[in-house]
Amino acid sequence: MEILRIEVPPTNCYLLRGREGVALIDPGPPGAATTVIAHAQEAGVRPEAVRLIFVTHGHLDHYGAAHQVQGWCGAPVSAYPGEAEFSRDRRNALPPAQTLRGSLLRWFYLLLSPLAGFEPLQPDVLLPDDQALSEYGIRARTVLLPGHSPGSLGLITDEGDAFVGDLFANYAVPSQPIYLSDRKAWERSYEHLRALHPRTVYVGHGEPFEGGKLDHIYPARYQLRWWVR
Ligand SMILES: [Zn+2]
Repeated sequence: MEILRIEVPPTNCYLLRGREGVALIDPGPPGAATTVIAHAQEAGVRPEAVRLIFVTHGHLDHYGAAHQVQGWCGAPVSAYPGEAEFSRDRRNALPPAQTLRGSLLRWFYLLLSPLAGFEPLQPDVLLPDDQALSEYGIRARTVLLPGHSPGSLGLITDEGDAFVGDLFANYAVPSQPIYLSDRKAWERSYEHLRALHPRTVYVGHGEPFEGGKLDHIYPARYQLRWWVR
């Protein structure tokens, strides 16, 4: 399957094109829809070819553009059960941080966020773990990867390309995300993904990396440049 990375700062959106359909993974933050649509059109994707808007988890920088993109292509928005509810509580937008800088940012966020309204995630389809996506024209399966959020859902193609949302970030080196809602669950998800031996790992923030690099994932503090993007 063909993979196109569309940068919608601070997030990556991915366009996954199979023979029978296209999936858009994480359409990005509010305002990103025009960029996503322009790149899809440039790649020759007709709106009716898009069969699924796959949201990895209920954070605004991943799902914020979902409904505008849906307005263009009409495809259903999917998420794991519970992530829509998770997205409604503003405190979940930044789960507990693994670094001091992340904690400070979270503290400011909790102080200021009541002033800003935002739309919660509204999925049309709830996808379970280990679900084949053939009905959307994509040769891939879902893989539940909780830790960053309770219902983080990745997908792995038959060729071994894994789209993991914020299970890791890769700005300087592949690292643990700054924010984790459940550290133990994250460790289990990391081991789970590693056991699947993905060929390439596509992250929500930063560069894709080879599956072989999963043997060494750095702690969150190694994300030296995380705040630049
Ligand atoms: Zn996130």
